[in-house]
This record gives sequence, structure tokens and C-alpha cells, in this order.
Amino acid sequence: MSNQIIQFAYLAAAVLLILGLRMLSSPKTAPRGNLMAAAGMLIAVVATLLIRGVVDYPVILAGVVVGSLIGVVLAVRIQMTAMPQMVALLNGFGGGASALVASAELLHYAREGTEPVGIVPVAIVLGVLIGAVTFTGSLIAFAKLQELIRGAPITYPLQRVVNALLGVATVGLAAAVVLEPFNLPIYAGLAGLSLLMGVLLVIPIGGADMPVVISLLNSYSGLAACATGFVLGNSGLVISGSLVGASGLILTKIMCDAMNRSLTNVLFGAFGAVEEAGGTAAAEQRSVKGYTPEDAAVIFSNSRSCIIVPGYGMAVAQAQHAVRELADTLEKKGIRVKFAIHPVAGRMPGHMNVLLAEADVPYEELVEMDEINPEFPETDVALVIGANDVVNPDARTEKGSPIYGMPILDVDRAQHVFVIKRSMNPGFAGVQNPLFFNDNTMMIFGDAKGTVLALVEAVREIV
Ligand code: NAP
Repeated sequence: MSNQIIQFAYLAAAVLLILGLRMLSSPKTAPRGNLMAAAGMLIAVVATLLIRGVVDYPVILAGVVVGSLIGVVLAVRIQMTAMPQMVALLNGFGGGASALVASAELLHYAREGTEPVGIVPVAIVLGVLIGAVTFTGSLIAFAKLQELIRGAPITYPLQRVVNALLGVATVGLAAAVVLEPFNLPIYAGLAGLSLLMGVLLVIPIGGADMPVVISLLNSYSGLAACATGFVLGNSGLVISGSLVGASGLILTKIMCDAMNRSLTNVLFGAFGAVEEAGGTAAAEQRSVKGYTPEDAAVIFSNSRSCIIVPGYGMAVAQAQHAVRELADTLEKKGIRVKFAIHPVAGRMPGHMNVLLAEADVPYEELVEMDEINPEFPETDVALVIGANDVVNPDARTEKGSPIYGMPILDVDRAQHVFVIKRSMNPGFAGVQNPLFFNDNTMMIFGDAKGTVLALVEAVREIV
């Protein structure tokens, strides 16, 4: 196919990708945006496959078959709750692929005996550096989220000095490769140090900061692909890589803001190192009030407003449909219901929105944290379903707590607070929650789905 048609196809793909991204910003247009972006990607892939003389079809076909098989098995087997690990893994593979393509191109130049010129040597170096850091960094993030290694920050003496020296050595080797691209030992050294850097940069970051790390690694995988696009002279890859890089950075900023942290603090602060079992020590000596769904229904019978706060436990229990049924039941009894959505509730950005949308909860009922917080003091009942860290008041006051500074949903300011969870176990950050011991808090112990369904029954009978 002629070069003009290929370039035109890439341009069409870029327009579709940008429009698709734009439409992803609203739940109403998101499904169409997703389709549009997928169509853009399809056009880019087909155009690339039609570039004459570059593509080795049997190898591509083998890759498609093996990749699709692995993809199907993973998609069928991975639980919704394990999506963040899956995303981490996919980012890692993206980065690894870019590093391999950049390396293969360098070897190709070496075999042909022609020196890469212009931006290409810099792009090769960036492709391997960012790609390798993304690969190993994502594997560590995956291992932390999958609990294959300790989620808490792994620290050692002089860690920052070691990381700084490693950074300087990597930049030195990168410059050496640009000046002398065919010196393969130096190139191997750069690849090795970059792989090591990915590991060392992510191990000191605590589990609670993983959302930020994953969106940052997602951005890196895009930047690595963009660099590889320059290596291959493929404008489609340059554009799609930059879109992933830029949108990943925007998401990183949103996640940092949601946790009231700066990116520097997340990356170099060894967040959560202070105390794994931190929190308000005194709270542990106090007792909690255990309520049954029937007791809770009595309180609902005297209420006019309720804010439901979903969290990770709702996802684990797959309780979203039951929660929707509860909201409908309460509304039928004349109780005004809203859902409070914390930006980092659950285990991936937008986790609660996705689950509640799946259960057909009207989008207008989902209210963002900043908007809903002033409403808690005037609300009769705050019903916390499987959330913990995002409603932990220690985040406001306990300087030593790993979640200190993270904005929370102010459920403790409601008249009555019900918390549905199975035990007194902590949430993701591993800290106890003083909310559970407050005078106005009542615990309803049990699996979220069963308990919410029992509450629906009790409300129907009593209210
Ligand atoms: P959380 O703090 O992890 O707490 C979830 C609670 O759900 C647990 O205390 C658990 O208590 C309960 N639970 C688990 N299974 C349950 C079930 N079947 N039925 C009822 N309850 C159940 O969750 P969160 O408040 O949503 O906070 C999210 C945390 O994850 C934050 O620390 C955030 O930084 C972190 N994180 C977020 C993302 C993201 O992108 N959103 C990604 C990675 C990490 P029991 O065991 O006692 O039931």
C-alpha cells in the first residue's frame, strides 16, 4: 500500500483515538468512545500490516495466536478484584515489548553496519531505558498487589543514595550508547541497570500508593512505545504512545490529588514505612457495637436521608446488585439515597463507578467526595459497605499513619453510621480504623452481599 495511504490511515486512527479518549470522560458516552478508540487501533494495526516489505506475516500470525490464547485465558480467569494486578502486568509487558523492539532495531542497524542517525539513537536509548524500568517496576507492583511479596515499603540504609547513584550511572551509560551505539556491552549494561532501577524504584513504595504507581507505569509504557515509534519511524505508534503517556500522567495527577500527596512524596517518601499497624492505638482497647440487619432497619425507619459509601468489600462480595436493590427499597420508603464515591475506593480508578453502573445505579446518584462531604452532617444514616481506609478519620489527624493527609469521606459526621464488613480486619493500608469505635457507629458483621440482602428484607418488613 502506498505510503500516503498508510499515513492517512494513521491520521484517521489518531483522530479516532483522540475522540475516543474525549468520550471516555463521561459514563454516558464512554461505551461509544471505547468502540471508537478500538476502531482507531484496528485501523492503525491493519495499516502497519500492509506496509510492504517490513512485516514477516508468519511471525506476526504466531504472535497473534499465542498472544490471543494467553489473553483469552487471562480474561476468563482473572477476577474483577484482581484487575489492578492485571493492569500492572499488561503495562509491564507493554514496556518490555518496547525495550525489546528498540534493542532489536539496534541489532538490526549493527548487522547492516549503518549507524542510526538523527533522533533514532536517542529514541533507542529512551525505548530501552523507559521500557525496561516499566517492565520490572510493573512486575514488582504486580507482586505487591498479588501479595507475592510484602505490600509494605521495603527499605534499607542509604536507599536514596543507592537510587541516586544508580540514576547517575544509567544516565551516563545512556549518553555513552547515544555516542557509540554499536558498543553492545555498554548497551547491555544500560539495559541491565534500567531493569534494576525498575525494581529499586518500586520496592520502597507502599501498597497504599500502588494506584499512583500503576497509573505512572501506565504512562511510562506509553512513553516507551512513543520512543519506539521514533525508532521505527512509525507515526501511528508515536501518536498512540504519546496519548497513553499523557493520559497516564493526567490520571497520576488525579490520583495524587485524591490522596493529597505530591508525586515526589509518593516516589521517594517510602510511604507507609512508618508503621504497618499504625493508627489510633487507644481505639483498639474500646469496644464496638454489633447490630443485626433487623436492628438497623429500625433506625432506617426513622430516617429521611442515607448516603451509601461503597468500598473494596462491595467489589469482593459482588454486592453491587444487592446494594442497588437496597437503594431502590429505601427510596420507595421515602428515604433520599445518594452514593458517595471516593476516588481511590476499591482497587482501581473508577472501580466503584464501574460496579454501580453495571448494577444500573443512575449516574446522578453517584456523588464525588468534595461535593458530598458537606452533606454528611445533615444526613441521618451513612451506610458504609466494605469500605475502610477511605472513611478512616485518622487520615485527618494521625501524623504517623500511612494514610495521613489522604482526603476521606466524612461519614463520621453523619447522625448514624452503619458499617458492613466481615470482621475487625483492617483495609488495604493495614491500619485500624477509629470510626468503628465511635459512639454513633454500629457494625453489622457479615459478607456484604448477604448482609445487604438481609437489610433489604428487614427494611421491607419494618419501615
Ligand atoms: P479497604 O480499605 O481496602 O477496605 C476494604 C474492607 O472491605 C476491608 O476492611 C474488609 O474488611 C472489607 N471486606 C472485604 N471483603 C468483604 C466482603 N466480602 N464483605 C464485606 N466486607 C468485605 O477499601 P477502601 O475503603 O475501598 O479503600 C481502598 C484502599 O485501596 C485505599 O487504601 C487505596 O489507597 C487502596 N488502593 C486503591 C486503588 C484504586 O485505584 N482505587 C488501587 C490499589 C490500592 P473484612 O475483611 O473485615 O471484611
